[in-house]
Amino acid sequence: MGYALFDTHAHYDDEKYNHDREALLGGLPDAGIVNVVNIGYDIGSSVKSGELASRYSFIWFAAGIHPHDAASAPEGWEGSIAGLLKNRKAVALGEIGLDYHYDLSPRDVQKDMFARQLALSGGLGTPVIIHDRDAHADIIDILKLSGGAPRGGVCHCFSGDRRLAGQALDLGLHIAFGGALTFKNAGDLAEAAAFTPPDRLLIETDCPYMSPAPYRGRRNDSTRLTIILERLAQIRGESPGYISDITTENAKKLFSIE
Ligand SMILES: [Zn+2]
Ligand SMILES: [Zn+2]
Repeated sequence: MGYALFDTHAHYDDEKYNHDREALLGGLPDAGIVNVVNIGYDIGSSVKSGELASRYSFIWFAAGIHPHDAASAPEGWEGSIAGLLKNRKAVALGEIGLDYHYDLSPRDVQKDMFARQLALSGGLGTPVIIHDRDAHADIIDILKLSGGAPRGGVCHCFSGDRRLAGQALDLGLHIAFGGALTFKNAGDLAEAAAFTPPDRLLIETDCPYMSPAPYRGRRNDSTRLTIILERLAQIRGESPGYISDITTENAKKLFSIE
């Protein structure tokens, strides 16, 4: 093995890890996972992400309001997010974006929250983590109207085709591939993965969600990043070692991690 992998998207504050979190996280470095970004989706989970990052040297974090939670964001959320991002382990604003699959917040509220957090990231000079589910056109529109993401960012859990990948790349974004790449009907996605230039490629688990095949539907964790890595390498006709090296290097550069 001998990989040094960077999981750019995880939710280890999730209650599904309550019974074995310490043991699982403690074992990640020996399993070849050298960096993890734990991602907030509301104020509470962003605070918890920061706490995890303070306890583990290899964990970093992002703070932000997910589209699911856009309608329930408390008054003063902007100050809370800006405050959390002053932490030296904070590397990005996120996750932010649009989710038209579940529509847990009204779409106009989601759009407004996405635009406001993009503006906030510009002011703070932080990269953004973008969540896009069934909302490709509006994601690109709002990014363009907002002047893109000045410090860059990630299209996380990318689910589009080659055309969407091209639009995201034109906006200066990185593209993170996860478990979906291993699912049976991943044709368009595989094409996008082959098309993405090596210096914009990232990998992620989005754990506890998005377990790669053959573990689909079960609790995910960062050790399964190797499955995604190997699939990505196969699709691109490159060695897993090379993909491991470049995706870790890309993530460190984007998140300004030494
Ligand atoms: Zn997401
Ligand atoms: Zn997420």
